[in-house]
Amino acid sequence: MELTTSFDPEVLALPFYEDSHRRLAEEAGAWCDSNRVLWEEIRSLDPDAAGRRLVRALGAAGWLAELDPRGAPVDDFRAVCLRREALAYAEDLADFAFSIQALAATPLLRFGSEAQRRRYLPGMAAGTLIGAFAVSEKEAGSDVASVGLEAVKDAADGSYVLSGRKAWIANGTIADVFVVIARTGQGPGPLGLSAFLVPASTPGLRVERIDAIAPRSFAHLSFEECRLPADALLGRPGKGFVVAVDLLERFRTTVGAAALGFARRAFDTALAHVLGREAYGATLFDLQLVKASLADMEVQLNAAALLVARAAWETDRGSRRFARHSNIAKVHATEAAQGVVDAAVQLLGAAGIVQGSVTERLYRQIRSLRVYEGTSEVLRMAIAGSLDMRRAARATAA
Ligand SMILES: Cc1cc2nc3c(=O)[nH]c(=O)nc-3n(C[C@H](O)[C@H](O)[C@H](O)COP(=O)(O)OP(=O)(O)OC[C@H]3O[C@@H](n4cnc5c(N)ncnc54)[C@H](O)[C@@H]3O)c2cc1C
Repeated sequence: MELTTSFDPEVLALPFYEDSHRRLAEEAGAWCDSNRVLWEEIRSLDPDAAGRRLVRALGAAGWLAELDPRGAPVDDFRAVCLRREALAYAEDLADFAFSIQALAATPLLRFGSEAQRRRYLPGMAAGTLIGAFAVSEKEAGSDVASVGLEAVKDAADGSYVLSGRKAWIANGTIADVFVVIARTGQGPGPLGLSAFLVPASTPGLRVERIDAIAPRSFAHLSFEECRLPADALLGRPGKGFVVAVDLLERFRTTVGAAALGFARRAFDTALAHVLGREAYGATLFDLQLVKASLADMEVQLNAAALLVARAAWETDRGSRRFARHSNIAKVHATEAAQGVVDAAVQLLGAAGIVQGSVTERLYRQIRSLRVYEGTSEVLRMAIAGSLDMRRAARATAA
């Protein structure tokens, strides 16, 4: 039987994890294994129908329960990472459905008022209300501080009028509510941004579907004088940049975890193939260059798993420098996963590129992880900026 999960038990046994995480990994893996019929079903649906079906299924199965503020407060990014790894291994769209729902709910959990949390989060946790997070614009991607979408406050009643555009929004075609970062002008650049909760039904909000390399709900948004009540403001005015950066810094580690899930699936598929494929009177596995390729993949998988575990642990323990570790984990895990998936395609030969095969799907699905939530180049710049210069000073003095 083909397994649909493959956590590395040696990594899970490390002190980065607690017993609750080990149990979660086992349960998440078993759930993914038992849902193969669902994965087949959603691959036959259009991306919007698949997205809705998956968010509901994840909600019904309790995968989103931590988003409900009525439960015990949870700040457990190791758990989010383990869930993403399991889902990415099983089915890209399931990881997408889970991660975007968590991405949209987290600003509400961290910055929302009691009333905002009560209004949106129970539905998001149940999977009956779909969220999306919209910060990017065509002219403001990596440079979040240059967001141009305007929110003008009406002095008469405190309402806001939003005008402008957002780009590349995951869940854009199916979301019921958007967390939107807009310019309210309290200060220049990052100081002039605020976050808003925008129901998809708001008059003046239009959605333009985009077809991506790996089909999913994905869209540009346009706001034509969208009027929002004063209580649509999420967090304090002028703190929108903080809302966005806090979210992205936390979720980067989880992107690394998803990359690990994709890469493990590619590795397992390649290993099964080379063990079974007869060549030269033996199997492909008996060839030294094939073994070297598998060994290189194994090294990359181990390094990625360790970096993700460490970054998630740093986040959960409230380390001041957690963002440095989440940047490192995302850069390495996503870049390594791209290489591992490519190597798996190579080891399968022509069979690796057949449309709809596991490796062909992974080859399309892995690409965007090096772009969203911080491109590899931008994160490298941030990592360089976080280097400890005192070490250099000590080395020079020695
Ligand atoms: C699948 C997918 C889902 C997404 N989902 C969402 C979503 O739900 N919500 C949302 O708001 N956004 C989303 N995005 C947008 C995403 O966050 C941006 O694409 C990303 O931030 C990069 O911005 P950009 O595309 O404008 O590229 P640019 O910022 O224009 O970058 C283009 C190139 O220039 C390089 N570059 C830019 N700045 C620097 C620098 N300072 N130093 C060195 N190189 C640099 C980049 O590394 C890249 O190679 C999504 C994107 C994808 C692909």
